[in-house]
Amino acid sequence: MVNGTIGVLALQGAFQKHIEALHALGRKTQQVRCHEELKRCVALIIPGGESTTMTRLLQAGRLTNSIKTFATKHPVMGTCAGMILMSSATDEKKVEPLHIMDFQVQRNIYGTQRESFTANLNLHIKAEEPPFCGIFIRAPGATKLNRRITVLAEYQERPVLIAQDHHLAASFHPELTADNRIHRYWLSLFDEDAGKESTHFKNYASVAKP
Ligand code: GLN
Repeated sequence: MVNGTIGVLALQGAFQKHIEALHALGRKTQQVRCHEELKRCVALIIPGGESTTMTRLLQAGRLTNSIKTFATKHPVMGTCAGMILMSSATDEKKVEPLHIMDFQVQRNIYGTQRESFTANLNLHIKAEEPPFCGIFIRAPGATKLNRRITVLAEYQERPVLIAQDHHLAASFHPELTADNRIHRYWLSLFDEDAGKESTHFKNYASVAKP
């Protein structure tokens, strides 16, 4: 799976910035709005936005099951609202979680839009790297993690960047900074070329505390 097209779910929300981050890393992208477009991709990003609206649009476009099936074989990264959709359970009845990763999530755990903030996060993906500027906008928080989940960053003792196999979920918006370390790391989990540059990312992640 080298240099295949990376899909970005483009029903709603902050998908354009993910596309720009992937282009900056030299990757081909595909905006995904239907099953046919998903089939062209080797991996998928579910962006931030509004998880209740995205649920509705996924159901209307018959994409819910397509993405669930896709995720059994292909890597998926979800950011903010995307993280909510990646989960196995949420506190909001209007959201249908896609059960891609095994954790529970609470929407808006840090408060309203006005309580949005940035925070310096220490990433447990490579030793002695500068902190990553996490942008939290009505961000969700993981409340319960299965043992299969690896925590890659925390904020105030709550996990905010988590991995399970080749899937990644972030409470914040890595696409809104020029720092593309998180996208690069995700690609390294499944892409041989990206992996070569950053093999020791993987080794470090595998010993990160659960
Ligand atoms: N609070 C939003 C939701 O519940 C997520 C916000 C975001 O993606 N920035 O879907």
